[in-house]
Amino acid sequence: MTKEKAPKGIKGWAQGRSLWMLHFCTGCGAIEMPPTMTSRYDMERFGITPMATPRQADLLLITGYLTVKTLKRVVRSYEQMPDPKYVIGFGSCTVNGGMYWDSYNTIKRLDLYIPVDLYIAGCMPRPEAIIDSFTELIKGIKEGRFDGWIRYRENIEFYKRNQAMVMDIRKWSLDTELAERIWNEVQEERKKRFERATVPHVYELAERIPEGLPK
Ligand code: SF4
Repeated sequence: MTKEKAPKGIKGWAQGRSLWMLHFCTGCGAIEMPPTMTSRYDMERFGITPMATPRQADLLLITGYLTVKTLKRVVRSYEQMPDPKYVIGFGSCTVNGGMYWDSYNTIKRLDLYIPVDLYIAGCMPRPEAIIDSFTELIKGIKEGRFDGWIRYRENIEFYKRNQAMVMDIRKWSLDTELAERIWNEVQEERKKRFERATVPHVYELAERIPEGLPK
């Protein structure tokens, strides 16, 4: 069986020039979207336009910090989007937790839960930086450099495991059988870790550090 590859060349050019962005904003970075979308920066000149539902969208922007509650909706929305699909993480909150790095209910690194194609540095990134990331995304899609949805599918157990470490994935995953199995495995592991844990806070932090990104 041949390995799936990201589209490139004319197919990639067409794909990159007609991105439909899911209208789903999290965190304070969302406030940079209106100027990016309207006449001053006018993102539609790149063929990027907002879309209300995940089933017709191919670009997911995570515009800031993500609570565990919101992560559930993000995973659900990401899984509903058709392939090929792309993810951009805005600001330091998606890179390492940002100013919420020590919060009990936000995640620290977005790419441990869903694949991220591009990050935009800053707190918060300005519209110029967002436009820059769009042009980089368009260029990268044409060259076949972005393949997050393939990585997600190939490493689904890794992502599901990390998701199960912070939330109940059974109600939020499209593949319910896989979610049920991984959820049970993680619960077993948790029980063992709880038996060993002596300082609950340290245990809680250690539990949230997954084992590294898939190659
Ligand atoms: S990176 Fe800064 S602007 Fe963006 S969500 Fe975090 S705190 Fe808000």
